[in-house]
Amino acid sequence: MVQDIAPAVYHNEFVPREPKRGDGILIYDRLSVLVRSGIDDLVIPSYPDLPVTKDDYLFSIDDRAFYDYSGAVRPEGYEMVAFNNEMYARGPREIPFAAITGYHIHSWKGYHRFCGKCGSPLVPSLTERALTCPNCRHTIYPDIHPAVNVAITDGDRLLMVKSVHRPNGPFHLVAGFMEIGERIEDTVKREVKEEVGLDVTNVRYFASQPWGIVGNLQIGCICDIVGSDVTTLQCDEISEAVWFGREEIPLDLGRHSVTGELICAFRDGII
Ligand SMILES: [Zn+2]
Repeated sequence: MVQDIAPAVYHNEFVPREPKRGDGILIYDRLSVLVRSGIDDLVIPSYPDLPVTKDDYLFSIDDRAFYDYSGAVRPEGYEMVAFNNEMYARGPREIPFAAITGYHIHSWKGYHRFCGKCGSPLVPSLTERALTCPNCRHTIYPDIHPAVNVAITDGDRLLMVKSVHRPNGPFHLVAGFMEIGERIEDTVKREVKEEVGLDVTNVRYFASQPWGIVGNLQIGCICDIVGSDVTTLQCDEISEAVWFGREEIPLDLGRHSVTGELICAFRDGII
């Protein structure tokens, strides 16, 4: 998955430091990031190409720090590349992860410029990864939205669906956000019932995956159906739902997401 960057190690301890030569600089334009043109590997700008400071610090991978640059200067020889499957597949592995995770912090700061209690401009905390209000001391921490991705199984069959928003896209799994007051297993049962009309039981945790592009924590789960296997689709969410045998599942699935890992694990008989 996207966070699997070993032997590199991600450090998100809040210890901002002044940039040193070679540290990474992330520059975003909507859902894309700046990388060097004309080469297969992802190479991002590095210090001192751009004037980042300690205040722009994001996190570190091994001993390389990463900074968020929002100024107007653009180094020559670079281009924007969109966040998509082709980008996630390019090496070195820590750069797609850094770009996605940096985007989480970048967009969170962009959406929280003013205090929700008193309206004053927020400023970065000096002691933790947070924004604080200098007027009323209200503190805002990064938003992380938990969402379930569910492998609905019936013996050797897996239910896969298509979204009404991407009817020509690939099959994926039932997914949805946790609601207030729910446990993970409650979310799984509710989302499955809402989206495909099935009752499920025996909810098991599989793995999780941070997904900074939309600020989510994707929680992969497995469950078994109870009773009828006949689906009733939520028409404004799901356009198609199909039971796949293990041998019918495509081979060319992306492995950067927990959804891809879940589907591959089922196809390969691991779950
Ligand atoms: Zn305030």
